[in-house]
Amino acid sequence: MTVALGTSFTFDNTYVRELEGLYEPWKAAPAPAPRLLALNEELADELGLDAAALGSPEGIDVLVGNTVPDGAQPVAQVYSGHQFGNYSPRLGDGRALLLGEVHDRAGNRRDLHLKGSGRTPFARGGDGKAPLGPMLREYVIGEAMHALGIPTTRALAVVATGEDVARDTLLPGAVMTRVASSHLRVGTFQYTAALGEVALLRRLADYAIARHHPDAASADNPYLSFFERVLDAQASLIARWMLAGFVHGVMNTDNMTISGETIDYGPCAYLDAYDPSTVFSSIDHAARYAFGNQPRVAQWNLARLAEALLPLIDDDPDAAVAAATEVLGTFPERYHGYWRDGMRAKLGLTGATEPDDAIVDDLPALIAAQKVDFTAFYRSLSAAVRGDDAPVRSLLVDPSALDGWTARWTAAVATAGEPGAVADAMDRVNPVYIPRNQRVEEALTAATGGDLAPFHRLMDVLARPFEERAGLEDYAAPAEFGPYTTFCGT
Ligand code: AMP
Ligand code: MG
Repeated sequence: MTVALGTSFTFDNTYVRELEGLYEPWKAAPAPAPRLLALNEELADELGLDAAALGSPEGIDVLVGNTVPDGAQPVAQVYSGHQFGNYSPRLGDGRALLLGEVHDRAGNRRDLHLKGSGRTPFARGGDGKAPLGPMLREYVIGEAMHALGIPTTRALAVVATGEDVARDTLLPGAVMTRVASSHLRVGTFQYTAALGEVALLRRLADYAIARHHPDAASADNPYLSFFERVLDAQASLIARWMLAGFVHGVMNTDNMTISGETIDYGPCAYLDAYDPSTVFSSIDHAARYAFGNQPRVAQWNLARLAEALLPLIDDDPDAAVAAATEVLGTFPERYHGYWRDGMRAKLGLTGATEPDDAIVDDLPALIAAQKVDFTAFYRSLSAAVRGDDAPVRSLLVDPSALDGWTARWTAAVATAGEPGAVADAMDRVNPVYIPRNQRVEEALTAATGGDLAPFHRLMDVLARPFEERAGLEDYAAPAEFGPYTTFCGT
């Protein structure tokens, strides 16, 4: 059955049209008693969708997968991926469907995707379902990332299915509608390259170029240029994560996009105390995806993308490897450049007349030794610029250990402009509110028990992360309950 839902959706499904072989047409499992838990009205508006229609019973049936809107062509996408370093040749969407593509108000093409919508041909042993907690978690963290200005896929809605899913216990199930600039992954290229069908690989690359990196098309070597642009987008993205204290937790190649958006929020979390070895995920035993490893892992994943692209880069395999290796080798420098620019903004040094890279580069090791709360530390620096260094000193175990650094930073920041203006600019990049682990847990536990009030309160706080508001101290405070562990429990 299809449904018109007013004139809300105008689909134009290029992935299905152009990339046969990289998906299976499929339909969602019926949800017995759908109930809307969260609707992202701002995002609906951005997409030109009518939020009231989406929240109606007909709209909810679309969001949970019970009805297929006019023009949608639901498919399960196929991809492979290196999971914790081990290659899985055929992953694909085991419990998700690409509904189709729409144009947002700005004219950009966006995927609408259902996650938790039942088993697909790629489900392997999985049940195809998702518990409500992890779907709301993806909603929370994705929206927080968006509010922080970090490229990300976003949740349009979460709908409870009215059915329990079996994990350690029975949990209420849900479907999340995800919006992404595409769902092309490094793993999509790995899968296609492994098929050995160079024509399909070229079609995929041309498609990705047109959709995400159109300037590459006119380069001398479009596919090498495409690789370089993906690499640059990822260098920028990972720098943003590192500047925000974000640990993705499962940076498998199937969870890395071609667009440069963060995708697949599973066992992710934000740092409390700054420690590069931080791992939150209960299954990351080898600490492969520890906070401080993320840039290296990104480069490793990009090497897998380069391998997949080799047949397109040059007919001569040696020449292809040499060209791709050269581009790959630029990752550390690009990453560090983005990171350093971001750090200079966090430290109020953007306008400094005497930029001092060492002020930036020396800081992480100094604060690691202090085990200082990452978010609170950076936020407290603007008060120091305004003349009050008590807040930052109060966060440090041994404030005198930072005296030498502080003297150099104070001198540099004094050259950056009028202190009030510099401090205000710092407050626009150093958030007060991030998704604190205990606040996220509290919201998801309450939601699982049927109380959505803490979730909505948290969403309100996270929507304006840079604006300190009275009465929200609990949302800015770090956890007090010891080391935090996230469970894939997806
Ligand atoms: P993720 O860890 O969410 O990136 O998922 C890795 C792979 O496992 C993807 O192919 C997912 O579609 C698949 N997957 C995860 N959970 C399930 C599930 N409950 N049922 C079927 N497939 C799943
Ligand atoms: Mg994934």
